[in-house]
Amino acid sequence: MLRLLAALAAVLLLAAAPGAQQPTRLVVIVVLDQFRADYLNTFASHWRAGFKTLLSEGAVFTRAQYPYFHTDTCAGHFTIATGTFPRTHGMVADTWWEQQARRAIECTDDDKAPVVSYGRASKLGKSARNSMAPSFADELREQKPGTRVVTLSMKARSAIGLAGHGGDAVTWFEEAVGVGSFVTSRAYAPDAVPAVRTFLARDSFETDFGKFWTLRDAPETYRYADAGVGERPRQPWTGLFPHEIRGATGTRDDAVALWRASPFSDAYLGRMAADLSDAFQLGRRDATDFLGVSFSATDTVGHPFGPSSRELEDTAARQDDVLGALIKYLDDKVGRERYVLALSADHGVAEVPVMRGAGRVATEDVRDRIEETLIARFGPAPGNGRYVASSTDFVRFADGIFDRVRKEPGLIAAIERGVTAIPGVERVLRKDQLSDRSSDPIVRAAALTNFDGRSGDLMIVAKPNWPLGGRVAAEAGSHGAPYEYDQRVPVILFGGGIKAGRYERAVTPADIAPSLARVAGIQMPKAEGRVLAEALK
Ligand SMILES: [Zn+2]
Repeated sequence: MLRLLAALAAVLLLAAAPGAQQPTRLVVIVVLDQFRADYLNTFASHWRAGFKTLLSEGAVFTRAQYPYFHTDTCAGHFTIATGTFPRTHGMVADTWWEQQARRAIECTDDDKAPVVSYGRASKLGKSARNSMAPSFADELREQKPGTRVVTLSMKARSAIGLAGHGGDAVTWFEEAVGVGSFVTSRAYAPDAVPAVRTFLARDSFETDFGKFWTLRDAPETYRYADAGVGERPRQPWTGLFPHEIRGATGTRDDAVALWRASPFSDAYLGRMAADLSDAFQLGRRDATDFLGVSFSATDTVGHPFGPSSRELEDTAARQDDVLGALIKYLDDKVGRERYVLALSADHGVAEVPVMRGAGRVATEDVRDRIEETLIARFGPAPGNGRYVASSTDFVRFADGIFDRVRKEPGLIAAIERGVTAIPGVERVLRKDQLSDRSSDPIVRAAALTNFDGRSGDLMIVAKPNWPLGGRVAAEAGSHGAPYEYDQRVPVILFGGGIKAGRYERAVTPADIAPSLARVAGIQMPKAEGRVLAEALK
């Protein structure tokens, strides 16, 4: 009898459950820029809002890792959004050498898509033209009539990455000197979007100028000391709190740069996300909408201060509040059973290389070693030119040179010897020797990054804790390497249709888009990631 009553009660509860079988009306992707997976534990004493909710009520994948070689913002956002790897979407890095134009371009450059500014005029053009794979939002717009797409970030590549090839309010901040304004581009809107313009007029970010960035929590609760070793704060800031949003010269450009590199910009994007969700009635119509928000401050703070700084710790603590407010907003306005949210990061970060056995590799040194080797073999490059067109962790030879070089095994070996003689360089990979089936994990990673014409002829593998960069390294924190500290990131699913829990299986951020597609009832036929079915109801 008791058992019967219990069964009856269960049936009644199920029928009355407000969450049962509710259609997903809003899909949200939140990306935290430069947020290493371990931060979720390292900074746990600060969690009382968004991270607390996500970690206790979400599906938390504890072993999420990018499997590819070059870990940065453009590669990460397009991987999350398209469910494919750089070898497929083609957005191999924030910048790459464009052989025809003979210059480095940014991944989202597109001179046919002029920027539309909400403030000061910009000469740039931006779109997702260079992306070869459709985003989740692209597929949603295609497969579900009436979808509205809103994406926001402090960076073009992040807002554009999350949106893809279209959208109703694809909004980012252009930091170029003399601009310092929120913008979109003609790829998304012929003119300024009224709802964005209205928000910016009502809640101007310039009211933050002159404010002080202070600690969110009591000083004794911080794991990291102020003014840590190796910090390279942006002038006129020092390593010590508080930090005023006011430049040394008092100009607007200076204040803009400091504001962008402070948690004030994250808080501002959080308010903008809620306001635009209201304006577009996201999740409140008979349609499935998309909201993508990429918060940049952990990156713009992490670069000058490094990951083990009080500044980064405080930025993460304040991100907890921003996420808490966003979740509360979505719960109140959309209802938790009617939205699904995925949180991840585009890449992690290396510790500041000040410990024993660490250092920096200058890309100019790599270039010079290769030039010297080729001059010794072929004589000076014709026309006072160079044999190496571009050298980052991707080395790109001038036209025709790689084909000459690879015909001579002795010459390739000499180049490898010269480059690996540089302290901190581990090895050199050739683009024609990569395979995603190699037993060598670095070769597999390089194969997933390899996109002909963009990722170079050679890839330079530096040792762990030896970041590659220019000779004049302006940054404390660096990323881009094929190591756990740069590849491991959070992946959390949350909301309607998600089974809370901790999942230990190895996954990648490319699994996010196909999983959201399953929840939203659409297809992602080109995705290389897999559906995280274990976390779906
Ligand atoms: Zn970065």
